[in-house]
Amino acid sequence: MPKIHYKSVEEIELIRESSLLVGKALGEIAKVIGPGIKTIELNKLAETYIRDNGGVPAFLNYSGFPYSLCISLNDQVVHGFPGQHILKDGDLVSVDCGVVLNKYYGDSAFTFAIGEVSDQVKTLMRVTRECLDLGVEKAVAGLRIGDIGYAVQEHAEKHGFGVVKELVGHGVGLRLHEKPEVPNYGKRGSGIKLEEGMVIAIEPMINGGRAGVKFWDDDWTVSTIDGKPSAHYEHTVAIKKGKADILSTFSYVDNVLKEKNKN
Ligand code: MG
Ligand code: MG
Repeated sequence: MPKIHYKSVEEIELIRESSLLVGKALGEIAKVIGPGIKTIELNKLAETYIRDNGGVPAFLNYSGFPYSLCISLNDQVVHGFPGQHILKDGDLVSVDCGVVLNKYYGDSAFTFAIGEVSDQVKTLMRVTRECLDLGVEKAVAGLRIGDIGYAVQEHAEKHGFGVVKELVGHGVGLRLHEKPEVPNYGKRGSGIKLEEGMVIAIEPMINGGRAGVKFWDDDWTVSTIDGKPSAHYEHTVAIKKGKADILSTFSYVDNVLKEKNKN
């Protein structure tokens, strides 16, 4: 089993640069995402933006994945293919983006509401993002992997939502997926100890209904077993003493969405 790769301060700064580019790419997506756009157009935009800024889309050709973004619609949980689907009012769209820059990976995901979504979907989005924040709060040296999963699971289940267990967060750095696995469920005080130098992607995948998922025969797309919507938010985070260092950012997305909501 491969060991955890502990990062130097210099390596963490390189991962921060990659993760920042991911955050900016998601911000570019936020500018154009809305009713009438095809998801393949979002993929093209992200790929061009990442390459124009010196990066390489990390997902493209990863284990044969054919696109630069994972775009997962409505009941799709993760790993959806961009395509000819034209987004419409009420759609829920999870956009997962990864970048390699100077050999280091950054990974972050954001779920967008298209036009007006139902109150239930709004709650699912809010709670999933809170799950991420609560998980990040536990990503500090001295705690354990299970503390992150417990925080995510407790919050999601309190609201009656289902926590996806078949897919997990992960270490990230020189590879897109490194040790350790970071489940969105767990017991407090269990699992490996979090230490400075660890960089992990925390990524709650929370279902509006049951926790179960199905795997499509396209080898990639994962959707909810009951057809209910699913949300996904992800940050790349460095473990520090006292407080996690969040290397990716939603600030670009949030600023764009705030401006859009004014209009
Ligand atoms: Mg991701
Ligand atoms: Mg990830």
